[in-house]
Amino acid sequence: MNTDVVVVGGGPVGLMLAAELRLGGARVVLLERLTEPSGHSRAFRMQARMLDTLDQRGLLGRFTEGNRTWPKAHFAGLEPLLDFGYLRNENPYALLIPQARTEELLEKHAMACGVEIRRGHTVTGLEATPSAVDCEISSDEGTYRLSSSYLVGCDGGRSTVRKLAGIGFSGSEPAVRALLADVELADPGQLPNGVPGTMRTPHGLLMAISLQSGVTRVLTTEFTPPEPGTEHTPVTLDELRATVRRVTGIDVDMDRPRWLSRFTDATRLADTYRQGRVLLAGDAAHVHFPIGAQGLNLGLQDAVNLGWKLAGTLVGWAPPGLLDSYGTERRPVAERVLRQTQAQLMLMAPDPRVDPLRGMFSELLELPEVNSRLAHEMTGLDVRYALPPGRYGHHLLGRPCPPLTPDVGDEARTMLGIGRGVLLVPDGLAKEAAGLVAGRSHRLGTVAAGDGPGLLLRPDGHVAWVDPGDGVPREDVLLELADALRHWFGAHGSEAVLRTHHDLTNGGS
Ligand SMILES: Cc1cc2nc3c(=O)[nH]c(=O)nc-3n(C[C@H](O)[C@H](O)[C@H](O)COP(=O)(O)OP(=O)(O)OC[C@H]3O[C@@H](n4cnc5c(N)ncnc54)[C@H](O)[C@@H]3O)c2cc1C
Repeated sequence: MNTDVVVVGGGPVGLMLAAELRLGGARVVLLERLTEPSGHSRAFRMQARMLDTLDQRGLLGRFTEGNRTWPKAHFAGLEPLLDFGYLRNENPYALLIPQARTEELLEKHAMACGVEIRRGHTVTGLEATPSAVDCEISSDEGTYRLSSSYLVGCDGGRSTVRKLAGIGFSGSEPAVRALLADVELADPGQLPNGVPGTMRTPHGLLMAISLQSGVTRVLTTEFTPPEPGTEHTPVTLDELRATVRRVTGIDVDMDRPRWLSRFTDATRLADTYRQGRVLLAGDAAHVHFPIGAQGLNLGLQDAVNLGWKLAGTLVGWAPPGLLDSYGTERRPVAERVLRQTQAQLMLMAPDPRVDPLRGMFSELLELPEVNSRLAHEMTGLDVRYALPPGRYGHHLLGRPCPPLTPDVGDEARTMLGIGRGVLLVPDGLAKEAAGLVAGRSHRLGTVAAGDGPGLLLRPDGHVAWVDPGDGVPREDVLLELADALRHWFGAHGSEAVLRTHHDLTNGGS
């Protein structure tokens, strides 16, 4: 075996996953087809759930530095906007950050964690056996093979890994054609709704956003299927000009394209996220129309959910079923995002019969409950994994960790930052909790919560146990805690740690 895990694809999801695997003690080789980062940015916005995760890993400051935040978002281009003032998390805003910068920062983080990144290496073949995965790789130096215990395809929507593994990608064919262009506008005033601005016309949509000085991103959407076979046809400036004219009826003076690209609303979900030793994450597992800036958040949360579970499986402490809980938890999350992006796109269709629906939705968005619910959904903060409920099921179970008091929060982040779980121990349980955690200390740390609530956080920051509080027999509280620890952190006392974060930081790989 050459390594524990081969991660295919050095986009944001592959880079995040590789770093998470290293935090958990796995050896990782990441293979990326491009010799250099493309420098292009599809995404420009990162959502609140991911900002909390970066915060928990001690990385948020690097991402926010020099970038603006935004407290709102649109839903289907309607007024009023979604108000992130309703969010009850640590970082209730969107971060405006180009994807190229996100990738640059994640690559540095992955390298600092000890990931071996091989650029210019393309996976072309795959053979999975019950005990290993062999992949064939083509690079400038020739073709070679690499053997690993697991392989994860983070290689984007057209995933080679997914195809080679024979995993189906079910969903809908494109019904919409869209162009993306980073260009210079001779006169932004030519666009009636200005820059930034969105136009919904009887012929489609046009969105304009200003990027770095002098460069504007122009996005067009026409509600007709793309011509068959044009998927890979390069976009020309003439095609863009003609499309803008068709959608808006205006001749817009555009020049000096930095990047021209086409995409569709094909909406697809992998039939399974795991087939034996091959797994999928990010766009390789799900694609949808990019509305509401959700793809990156969805994929990065896949990585954070999978990393510790796969590392625990390799290191040896993972309880049965832990790795399979990745697909069980994440696939339904993707299903909801896919559904919601399809709904938004239909609400933006040019058909005048959609107008009454838009009017009704606008009225609904005035209601705090509706606005808040959709704000939580778009930011990924509504996710609740279906954890074993226990006798005293609590509304926080399976949800992202709520904001903690500053002292407790800082200590918890120290543990989460090195990829461990955290048990927040209220005073009344201190002695017993110490006994329960002993023998699992490489996967889990404790933080004294004083008279605050007792909480168990998984390494991905989701709540795995909540102290039900007064009125519940103490023995029951401890039994539930012991169950949760066994379920998420393995058997008590079986400290079968082969490679730990401690080894990693001391150079082991
Ligand atoms: C127009 C547009 C705007 C968007 N805006 C947003 C936004 O604002 N916010 C947001 O959250 N999301 C947005 N998205 C979605 C977001 O860009 C994607 O969800 C995200 O890039 C997915 O990351 P990934 O790592 O899964 O895949 P990718 O970013 O596609 O990375 C896959 C990587 O795998 C490599 N690769 C492919 N095949 C191989 C192979 N055989 N061997 C080795 N390497 C390989 C590729 O070179 C690439 O680097 C937008 C998408 C589009 C199209």
